[in-house]
Amino acid sequence: MTAAEIESVTPLVLIVDDDRMQGRLIGEVCSRIGYRSMFAASYETAAELIATTSFSYVTIDLALGERDGIELLRLIAQLQVRPFVIVISGCEQRILNAAVRLAHSSGVCDAVALPKPIELAALRKVLLTARCDCGAQQRPVRDQAVVTAADLDAAVGNGEIYAAFQPKLELSTGKVVGCEALARWDSPTLGPIGPDLFIPLAEGSGAIKAVTLQILRSALQLAREIGRDDAEFVVAVNLSATLLSDPAITEDIGGLLQQLDVPARSLMIEITETTAMGDVSLAMDTLLRLRIKGIGISMDDFGTGYSSMSVLAQMPFCELKIDRSFVGGCLTDPDLWKVVASSVTIARSYNMKTVAEGIEDVATWQALAGLGCDAGQGFVFSRALPHDAFLAWCDDWHRRLRSDGLAPWMTRRQA
Ligand code: C2E
Ligand code: CA
Ligand code: CA
Repeated sequence: MTAAEIESVTPLVLIVDDDRMQGRLIGEVCSRIGYRSMFAASYETAAELIATTSFSYVTIDLALGERDGIELLRLIAQLQVRPFVIVISGCEQRILNAAVRLAHSSGVCDAVALPKPIELAALRKVLLTARCDCGAQQRPVRDQAVVTAADLDAAVGNGEIYAAFQPKLELSTGKVVGCEALARWDSPTLGPIGPDLFIPLAEGSGAIKAVTLQILRSALQLAREIGRDDAEFVVAVNLSATLLSDPAITEDIGGLLQQLDVPARSLMIEITETTAMGDVSLAMDTLLRLRIKGIGISMDDFGTGYSSMSVLAQMPFCELKIDRSFVGGCLTDPDLWKVVASSVTIARSYNMKTVAEGIEDVATWQALAGLGCDAGQGFVFSRALPHDAFLAWCDDWHRRLRSDGLAPWMTRRQA
């Protein structure tokens, strides 16, 4: 390997700190583990460097003289390739936790907080173990650029949009009790395009109905297949606000259930909290009609909107899904844990099941099971998979569960 090639694969760390002494210490930790580093003593220098150089990690001191580290976090969130962020500060722990949450919610790849004075061993560990997969999360260029409604219409017509299924597990037993159907678009010319981009586009262009009915059809086909052996399996499909106000939607869904001969109880419709609360009387109308048919209704992304308790009590939800932004850091951030725990209590008091989204490790799975959260989904189990891969995953999972139970699997995962 040439010197230039070695340099290109060696992680580069940007150290942003107005305390040069501390900056030097961090720089030494980097060089001892073989990383390169650059130093910025002010917001302005850091902003210039970030604009011209691609960093794997950025350490940020929250108090940066005139400007503060929060401004820098916002700047990083706008980058195409985002570094792993390590927030360092002498502020109290709750402020540190809030800064990390802000980093996550504003789209910074990933972030952790370390208290000041910095423990060098802890920093070293983060630099060595934090996965900097920002490149993997980088969206294809076209994804961020203009994908037009015409592209989308053509894709719907060509069958480029399909459903992938993410398993939903009963947390206490590990049994797969259902799945969520998530729309995927693999364009032969534009590459994979995420639902966060094309679903809003479809909602604006009116293509959302065709997309949803296509996803629903695939989901019901899967439910019928699995339902032959497991009558309790429930498939969940997301319904946008625009469709909630479509007077024909209940009949469309009912018609597909009949056509594919799937019982209504095998279907769950997920509606985001903000959608349901947008126009309460309109939402109530559709939700009630779906419930009367025997279809389940789930409140998605719970905690991200502003539900009033009285509205929650009136709406016929059977399930409450705790948003992944609370689940992700709930073991390390006591404030997030309180949100998760009180969501479980609220759901229980309204006779709803709780589902936690975004479970990424076994420790979180176990803690949530201990809390009495009924079900969960997340990368610790599986990402969303196409139809055949999903069936194979379920077979494999249950075979292991039958032969070994949960314990050996958990030990292996934790190792
Ligand atoms: P959502 O309904 O909250 O779906 C869950 C999202 O969390 C999915 O992202 C899923 O891949 C992701 N996820 C699951 N487990 C984990 C985990 O452990 N960690 C993390 N970080 N993420 C996890 P995806 O597939 O990108 O979907 C994004 C959103 O797009 C969905 O959020 C949903 O609002 C919307 N969407 C997807 N498919 C459809 C659809 O068919 N119709 C409608 N109306 N919206 C859809
Ligand atoms: Ca959902
Ligand atoms: Ca959700």
